[in-house]
Amino acid sequence: MQTDALVAIRAGKLFIGGEWRDAESGRTFPTINPSTAEPLTEVAEGDVADVDQAVRAARGAFESGAWPAMDARSRAKLLHAVADGLEARADELARLETMDNGKPLREARMFDIKESIECFRYYAGWADKIYGDVIPLPGPYLNYTRLEPIGVCGAIIPWNYPLQMAAWKVAPALACGNTVVLKPAEQTPLTALELARIASEAGLPAGVLNVVTGHGETAGAALVRHPDVDKIAFTGSTEVGRIIQREAAGNLKRVSLELGGKSPNIVLADADIEAAVRGATSAIFYNTGQACTAGSRLLIDESIRDEFLEKLAKRADGMRPGDPLNPKTRMGPLISQEQLDRVLGYIEKGKSEGAELVIGGDRAEVSNNPGYFLNPTIFDRVTPEMTIAREEIFGPVLAVTTFADLDEAIELGNKTDYGLAAAVWTQDVKKAHRAAHALRAGTVWVNMYHTLDTGSPFGGYKHSGYGRELGKYALDLYTQVKSVWVNLA
Ligand code: NAP
Ligand code: MG
Repeated sequence: MQTDALVAIRAGKLFIGGEWRDAESGRTFPTINPSTAEPLTEVAEGDVADVDQAVRAARGAFESGAWPAMDARSRAKLLHAVADGLEARADELARLETMDNGKPLREARMFDIKESIECFRYYAGWADKIYGDVIPLPGPYLNYTRLEPIGVCGAIIPWNYPLQMAAWKVAPALACGNTVVLKPAEQTPLTALELARIASEAGLPAGVLNVVTGHGETAGAALVRHPDVDKIAFTGSTEVGRIIQREAAGNLKRVSLELGGKSPNIVLADADIEAAVRGATSAIFYNTGQACTAGSRLLIDESIRDEFLEKLAKRADGMRPGDPLNPKTRMGPLISQEQLDRVLGYIEKGKSEGAELVIGGDRAEVSNNPGYFLNPTIFDRVTPEMTIAREEIFGPVLAVTTFADLDEAIELGNKTDYGLAAAVWTQDVKKAHRAAHALRAGTVWVNMYHTLDTGSPFGGYKHSGYGRELGKYALDLYTQVKSVWVNLA
């Protein structure tokens, strides 16, 4: 076991009601470093009883007025203090994220941690700007609305962007005056625990943010079923999203779901080819393909197919995975043995269903590292019926299909149950906007890929979920509207 001081700190404990506690059962489980396949540390295995304690703490902080009744400027100040705390420890947090998740250190620092800090700052800015309307009505009435917090929010997050997914949910929920119980993914619990520590040191009152590490089927399910949780915000697989929507029905919890994707990345014949090749590479290989917005279906105009594929394969070949702590590394391992097996299973399916393997498809040898490394993989001549064109693989596996014209590109692009993101590469402004309007996805990029910002809404169409995180839109997820009538007669 690695005895890195960074990971030893709060491991093995839950954060409930402002205190570090063991799980009631006393049980723990290991979190694994995916680049070494070795345990980093032990984490508390929270279950039904612990979730119940955490919900009680969150309810107490909500009802006692410790948080929602605090004046909004003071709440804003505390959220800025959380951002300051994250910023002061950004390098450590990046290292922790890299060890727990396997993503390249540079990306963890420049993207995950940076964006998490910005997210807290952005919603700190909103805290005192959340207010209703005065509505002119016929009659001798004063009618106005108040945007009130929902109550206790359960946040269940995946392992692909651990701290960032926590920030996307915790920051707006707290800005709106809710209290939170956060259940991080079992594979990547460490930065969520550090967030709790930093928030507590920043002065967040006890019970406002609670973190229960544990498994989805136990701790996660207990949170979803708990009768005193008012809302669940979930990011993860469409399969689990369906379970959550069903299980949350008991007390009619509000639910927002950020689910999987199979996003089309469309390159028209008039595109800037070099830029599109760079974009297509990062679209699929960024975060080792473990991104819900991954551009996993590359649709290219048949007239540029050969040139494009040749350049793409060359660039992908330069993306060979390496030790994520090495600053030069651009691609790390997959998250787990299970995920590696899943992705290798899809690669076999691609071959057996007749797709043409252009590059990769095999495990990567990274010196002295027995981790879950896979080479960047590209399949050509993929038809829309093939499994690798339909299902979310969540790995560095690209499916390439060609089209004859823009209409066919859009039709192919929309031929999926998912609708999280899409991109189009073209120099023709009319075609760009036609495609952007016709593609049924929550985000459409033109001549770019993967760009997100805390200020811009993010979420899915179709089976990619509903509700919009980020921007002012996230405030809708964490507030409810009250209409107040005053008789002036
Ligand atoms: P997942 O099962 O959907 O996990 C997401 C979160 O939900 C985790 O915290 C998980 O806990 C929890 N969870 C699981 N079952 C639950 C239940 N019945 N009730 C409440 N919470 C539950 O995703 P995964 O197993 O990590 O990955 C499987 C596949 O999902 C991936 O291969 C990928 O295709 C997809 N995925 C998509 C996204 C995305 O952002 N769209 C993110 C991650 C994964 P545990 O960690 O304990 O399982
Ligand atoms: Mg881990």
